[in-house]
Amino acid sequence: MNKRDCITGKSLSRNDLIELLSLENPVKIEQLRKNAENVLLSERGNQVYFRGLIEFSNICRNDCYYCGIRKSNNKVKRYSLSEKQVVDAALWCAKQGYGSIVLQSGERNDSEFVDTVERLVYVIKEKTVSAQLPDGLGITLCVGEHTFETYKRFFAAGAHRYLLRIETSSEDLFSRFHPQTQKIQSRIDCLKYLKEIGYFVGTGVMIGMPGQTIESLADDILFFKKTGVDMIGMGPYIPHSDTPLGEKEPSGYNNLLLSLKMIAVTRLVLKDINIAATTALQALKHNGRELGLRFGANVVMPQLTPKEVRKEYMLYDGKPCTEESRDDCSVCLKKRILSTGRIISLNNWGDRVRMGNDQP
Ligand code: SF4
Repeated sequence: MNKRDCITGKSLSRNDLIELLSLENPVKIEQLRKNAENVLLSERGNQVYFRGLIEFSNICRNDCYYCGIRKSNNKVKRYSLSEKQVVDAALWCAKQGYGSIVLQSGERNDSEFVDTVERLVYVIKEKTVSAQLPDGLGITLCVGEHTFETYKRFFAAGAHRYLLRIETSSEDLFSRFHPQTQKIQSRIDCLKYLKEIGYFVGTGVMIGMPGQTIESLADDILFFKKTGVDMIGMGPYIPHSDTPLGEKEPSGYNNLLLSLKMIAVTRLVLKDINIAATTALQALKHNGRELGLRFGANVVMPQLTPKEVRKEYMLYDGKPCTEESRDDCSVCLKKRILSTGRIISLNNWGDRVRMGNDQP
């Protein structure tokens, strides 16, 4: 692999990805970081986009072995926010100039839930149209696996992005971390439906799960490329003590460093997509999100979930930002972004520009 290839990402082979993800020499890691940053700056510029995160319900029908809000965890106090609470959070977000929200919840597929999500999207769209946001807030949904028809209903209501994390593209690892009833193929089918309908599609993986290898992570990046994703939300695997995986041996990797390398290499391969600097990075290091931005991320997700219930959405132990008010989070995140030399883009959806055969 020559330096030019590394910067353009054009001809990076699977072996190149493995080599880059395996880097341990700090000088070489810094070179990787700089290359990823250069690609980001030339492809997408210096802006960082906000996606205000509203975790509107922690009720889930699934039982993923790593997740703190899995249905078998009886210690969790279940909640669903009222429509007013969700809409108020969205209006607050629009007022800040954030431009976009993410509506996230545990997974349910009953008709009451589907109707609720559809209505929330519709109402938020309607109420957030303004001179600054002529098409209202950009809405990302992160509400799990659904039928083609349901995804179409959400799209018609006004959601234009969908995040469905695959968690790992390895069938073997997936089957070790999920009950038999949850299948990787079902997730892959959903990603296809979403693309076909016309969503900007996001996915992501956990980094440093027990038994995961560098080769498997390289394959994850190739999966992102093959799927043609527009956005990535991925972060370090952090155990939750009340889950079956909480007790297992960690992978032995430095999960923060590995996550940063994953961001950088993904940026080299998929140059113009949106990549989030996720909160989980900050759980491992106080400036983890800033590091994510410096390694090639360009999106952050401020917490808008009402403070009273945030502690009930603990996907992993030590999740940060559960005590602060929305205003505190806003001030803190702005400082963090500016400290990296980047600028904040307000009242802007900040999607990548699709071209040619990229179109749905
Ligand atoms: S990871 Fe998602 S689908 Fe799995 S148990 Fe947690 S909230 Fe439910």
